[in-house]
Amino acid sequence: MSKILVLPGDGIGKEIITQALKVIDSLNANNNLGMELVHGLIGGSAYDETGSPLPEETLKAAKECDSILLGAVGGYQWEVLDRPLRPERGLLGLRAEMDLFSNLRPAILYPQLAAASSLKEEIVSGLDLMIVRELVGGIYFGEPRGIEVKDGQRFGINSATYFESEIARIGHSAFQIAQKRDKRVCSVDKANVLEVCELWREVMEEVSKDYPDVELSHIYVDNAAMQLVKAPKQFDVMVTSNLFGDVLSDCAAMLTGSIGMLPSASLNKDNFGMYEPIHGSAPDIAGKDIANPLATILSVAMMLRYSLNQTDLAGKIEVAVNTVLDQGYRTGDIAAQGDTVIGTEEMGDRVVAALK
Ligand code: NAD
Repeated sequence: MSKILVLPGDGIGKEIITQALKVIDSLNANNNLGMELVHGLIGGSAYDETGSPLPEETLKAAKECDSILLGAVGGYQWEVLDRPLRPERGLLGLRAEMDLFSNLRPAILYPQLAAASSLKEEIVSGLDLMIVRELVGGIYFGEPRGIEVKDGQRFGINSATYFESEIARIGHSAFQIAQKRDKRVCSVDKANVLEVCELWREVMEEVSKDYPDVELSHIYVDNAAMQLVKAPKQFDVMVTSNLFGDVLSDCAAMLTGSIGMLPSASLNKDNFGMYEPIHGSAPDIAGKDIANPLATILSVAMMLRYSLNQTDLAGKIEVAVNTVLDQGYRTGDIAAQGDTVIGTEEMGDRVVAALK
């Protein structure tokens, strides 16, 4: 029996997680999934109840579970708090505590949604790209950091740092994923300017020797951004640092039309994973029954595939989502003319119906 920690978080988090739980309940009832759910707090709602965005109980529960399913964190009302108390710090803290260094962000364009992309259909149709982002190192965590006064004026500092072991492990992650796909890894860096990227490139070359069946190429991040909007289908797996991955994966997400469709996984070396939609807590639409729950439902599929070894059931969820899209049902964010627009709850119910 696998034990899953469920953390709805803030904003639309609760609504979308409710739909994902319907899917899990259905799989539990009809496919002997045997998933035990444990519920916890994170983010702003955790701060409101406990005074911390990452309560000790949540961390303890995470360490006792096999995976985490997360909604999203954040909201305007918590933006005035001191930085360490803000919702996003809860999420960063959980990623760091569980050493979730490998962030997988697939960007898949569902053929039914090709019209929702901002790019021409022929450029994006059939897009199936995986961005592998280093998640617990680099400039987001490097020291020294801060804002100080120097030479009589304010001075901001962050440090882009990587040990070779940190680069190697994300490299292995990317190559192993590529082995299950089209066997091509493109490593994104800025080695022409940054020494830390020079090391990144060297280590990627070294790691690639363990994977003779996978082709490795390198690209500078500025060109990668350009190529992503020019010819995104040229890529299979892109591997990159925390900062570059943050930016490029949002760019890749938009190629697919809506961030409401895209799941993500963050894994540690034991394949313990946290699974969450790539979007945030969308406070502008929270509580209105209009949020798209499909990214969260597809995050359950990723959890089954990458942490729980239940590839068949993962496929079942993905087929069910496709069926609902084929039937023409859409939440507002992915709707085109002529589609039937439905709410968050109904979308969850339709996926469950398609699963049966
Ligand atoms: P956001 O992703 O929450 O929203 C961006 C836009 O996309 C909004 O217009 C929103 O309505 C829409 N959107 C997002 N998810 C949607 C869905 N499922 N269905 C339909 N539309 C959807 O990003 P933001 O507005 O920049 O941030 C809002 C809050 O979320 C902030 O507090 C931010 O810090 C936080 N955030 C959290 C995470 C996370 O929990 N992983 C990620 C990004 C942002």
